[in-house]
This record gives sequence, structure tokens and C-alpha cells, in this order.
Amino acid sequence: MTVSTPSTSAVPPLAEQETGPLRCLSIDVEEYFQIEAAQGAIARADWERWPGRVERNVDRLLDLFYRHKRQGTFFILGWVARRHPDMVRHIAAAGHEIASHGMNHDRLHRLTPAQFRSEITECRKILQDLAQQPVVGFRAPTFSVVPPTAWALDVLVEAGFLYDSSIFQVRHPSYGVPGAPDRPYFVRHGDDGATLLEVPPLSWRVARRNVAVAGGGYFRLLPLWFMQRGLKQARHQDRPAILYFHPWEFDPQMPRMPLSFTGRLRTYTHLAKAAARLERIMAQQARWRPIGSVLEELKALARARAVFEL
Ligand SMILES: [Zn+2]
Repeated sequence: MTVSTPSTSAVPPLAEQETGPLRCLSIDVEEYFQIEAAQGAIARADWERWPGRVERNVDRLLDLFYRHKRQGTFFILGWVARRHPDMVRHIAAAGHEIASHGMNHDRLHRLTPAQFRSEITECRKILQDLAQQPVVGFRAPTFSVVPPTAWALDVLVEAGFLYDSSIFQVRHPSYGVPGAPDRPYFVRHGDDGATLLEVPPLSWRVARRNVAVAGGGYFRLLPLWFMQRGLKQARHQDRPAILYFHPWEFDPQMPRMPLSFTGRLRTYTHLAKAAARLERIMAQQARWRPIGSVLEELKALARARAVFEL
């Protein structure tokens, strides 16, 4: 891969004097019909039959980022990048970090280590060729880096990734490692495993529990003050706050899928309010940075803690 300097014409001027807590806006770029809640309802063979919405939704998000002079990290699915190469180029040209969300939105439980290695290598090549920037970050679909899939850490290091942002320190039926640290740390699987920087999504510690407040369904279903309280606590504790959103969460017009009751509730609640909410968060004074642009700072924080064994 040859990495050249991207065009800077679309890069908004970042406020250099920005002060305040370190925060990151991350976007998991996927189509609405690829979400885990649609797994049983829409077969992969039918994906092409559903109208794609990701490009227009990413355009709206890029507009929000531009207006607020923010840059973030876009974890892009290989399946989507292949079908929307110009979208990936636009995201990169606007100064955002391009990172990997895997190839086909499979939870890691559904892949063997060999399949995972082949898919992340393929996805990384697609993204790097389009974005003309090194791709060093990974987020697993549905935060599926958990003890049974901890082998993925070694595969990521071997494949050249420098950080992962997939271990959610909350209790949830299908993901989460409740005992994991709530701030950047080095993680390893087994004594002879490779060590990787982990950058976990924001949680709010309350009543001896970690409450998920970093984005997604939590961001839309819970009142906004949950996220605000989480951000405030992270600031007081000098923890970076990593937030995550999906393009389809800002699209009230997306076609409705035959989901379960819970799936409909998690997927379709407050879509029309999401953009205004995100703008309120974006407008806050903070050092909003793509994760990959502050790796040294994150590593220094991680070095202050013991390596976490997954
Ligand atoms: Zn996803």
C-alpha cells in the first residue's frame, strides 16, 4: 500500500486551542439490515434486496462533524466499503480516521481464528487502498471480544492492528466483560499471548455497577442525562470517553424489518431525536480526537495499569 497525503480541501479547521477531557466520537459504519437484531429475520443472501441507506446517512453525519469542527473514528464494515468506495474516500478526505469493523458483521463467535484472520486482512486492504491511510484500529461487531473469543487478540496483533475497541465492561446477555477496566489498558489472552491496547467504550460507574452510556441503543433509549453523567464522571476521573453511534440511528425513514418486539424497541426508538442529541454532545467543550491520533497518550494511560488477562 502506498499512503499519500489525502486532499485537505474538505478538512475543517480543528480548534487547536481546545482544552478539556479527551473524548472520541466513533461511528460503526454498517447497513441497518446488518444489525444483530436482524440476524434471524433477514438472511445474508437477502441483503442486496434491501435498499441501501448507509451512504446518505454517513453524509448527514459528515455534515454534523463538519459543522461542529469535529473529527472522529469510523469503524467501517468491509462489505459496505466494497459497495461504497467513494463514501470511504469522502470520510478519509474529511480528516477522520478509518478503522475496521470486520468484513460481514459476524459476531466473532461465528468465525474460526483462520476465517477471522482472512476477513480482517481482506477488510484492512480494502479500507487502506481506498482511504490511503494506515488502518490500525478494530471494533468487533456487537462488542464480541469476550473470554470465549479472546483468541481474536492474537490474530489482531499478528495482522498489524495497534488497538482494539471491542471490550465493553458491562453486563449484557450477548456481550460484555464486567470485570474489565473502564479506561485504556493492555489486554492479553494467555501467558504467551500478544499484548494489545484496548480502548473501551464509556461506562458510568454507579451503585457498584458499570452502566452502558456510550451510545447505540443506550443513547437513544435512555434519557440523554445518562450519557451526560457518564461524561462528567469520566472527566472527573481523567478517563477518556469513547462514544459510538451507527449511521442508521439517524434515519427515521429506514425501511422497517420484521424484528422481534425487543428488536423493534432497540432499533426504532427515538431515531428522529438522535441527530439533535448528538449535536448537543458534539457541541461540548472537549478534546475530541480520532482514537488513532492519540495512541501515544492512550498507551501512556494503559502503561499505568496492570495488563488485563482475558
Ligand atoms: Zn456493528
